[in-house]
Amino acid sequence: MFKKILIANRGEIALRVQRACREMGIQTVVVYSEADREAKYVRLADEAVCIGPAPSAQSYLHMPAIISAAEVTDAEAIHPGYGFLSENADFAERVEKSGFAFIGPRPDSIRLMGDKVSAKQSMIRSGVPCVPGSEGALPDDPREITRIARSVGYPVIIKAAGGGGGRGMRVVHTEAALLNAVTMTRSEAGAAFGNPAVYMEKFLLQPRHIEIQVLADTHGNALWLGERDCSMQRRHQKILEEAPAPGIPRRLIERIGARCADACKKISYRGAGTFEFLYENGEFYFIEMNTRVQVEHPVTELITGIDIVVEQIRIAAGEKLTVRQRGVQFNGHAIECRVNAEDPYKFTPSPGRITTWHTPGGPGVRVDSHAYTNYFVPPNYDSMIGKIIVHGATREQAIARMRIALSEMVVDGIQTNIPLHRELMVDARFIEGGTSIHYLEEYLAARHQG
Ligand code: ADP
Repeated sequence: MFKKILIANRGEIALRVQRACREMGIQTVVVYSEADREAKYVRLADEAVCIGPAPSAQSYLHMPAIISAAEVTDAEAIHPGYGFLSENADFAERVEKSGFAFIGPRPDSIRLMGDKVSAKQSMIRSGVPCVPGSEGALPDDPREITRIARSVGYPVIIKAAGGGGGRGMRVVHTEAALLNAVTMTRSEAGAAFGNPAVYMEKFLLQPRHIEIQVLADTHGNALWLGERDCSMQRRHQKILEEAPAPGIPRRLIERIGARCADACKKISYRGAGTFEFLYENGEFYFIEMNTRVQVEHPVTELITGIDIVVEQIRIAAGEKLTVRQRGVQFNGHAIECRVNAEDPYKFTPSPGRITTWHTPGGPGVRVDSHAYTNYFVPPNYDSMIGKIIVHGATREQAIARMRIALSEMVVDGIQTNIPLHRELMVDARFIEGGTSIHYLEEYLAARHQG
């Protein structure tokens, strides 16, 4: 096992990875920007290295600074967390070429999945069902594009092959709007992701976002750890996740889970990963694979008892998975609410000093956050400052526990979206379960009018 790991991230995930390392008796090196000097995990680290000023491009995305920090501290492995460099194949390659273990998949797997066109093609070959659409990237010929759209059937969605974070997508309802939408998405994709290739999918009208967590070791073993329902989204960003997904027959989940584990074996996948699907009328349609630990991984940990970050580290060290598929047991229900530093009505970011920070507790409550009273939320990064995760024997109990947890939570000095989560926990449609990916936006529009 590694003696020392460098954590190439910030915020709650830096603390989460650090906790896993400490539990395993592994020393931690934390890298931080000037804006994160005061962070809790910086103080708790065995070693901490400042890698640059606040802007991410000069710190958390600056590969040479991170690799030299690993060199000077004699770290053996690098954990990239999520976001930042976690899905950057060039970074993974540089980490490995510099003689460190990358705690994540092989660079070629990241590259394959990072291009959504090649990802979809490899999933089709591996027997994973995908959203009907263009075979590969769209050609230049406008007549050909029009023909493809007709055969897919409107509405269609034009998506950037290199897209991510909910950006680089455009829905098209009529043929009159098609070619212009393709041109616009191409030019935006070229500017934002350095890759103008776009592809087309049927736009599903009322799907749910259901994803499968997988773990695969370097000895040919792969497992699926159940599903998560992440349909509560605003602008394609998840805000609340739960496991299991309410109302989906277990045999369907088991069938798709087995397909995902099988695909991992076929592509020699290594580490933790997530297969994201849209689910509609009893069918799963693959949309993309995330080749890293996800924000919402704790809901899976709470229902399976498996520590996903510990498993990532063990896999990177070349160890075999200790559990077999038959040994994976699903217990009860878990819900996660993402706490964002933002206006709960207008959603504008609300950075600044937290003057009071009281976190909830009690049975089945977990809070993953690096925040504390007097912590300054820097304006430079993502607005998520923590997660409240609850576990209950049933979904009803989990919802009840989340309501209590949210009522106990006090954050002063900045605004957070906790009031929105409190509303959702008493919303009849959420309580019923199984809402589509459009539900939250519809809810917010109605709230705005009401
Ligand atoms: P990203 O990598 O940017 O997150 P995804 O491909 O995962 O992009 O899509 C993000 C979200 O966009 C999905 O969760 C869903 O809400 C919506 N979406 C993507 N593809 C489709 C589709 N074919 N039909 C309907 N909604 C879609």
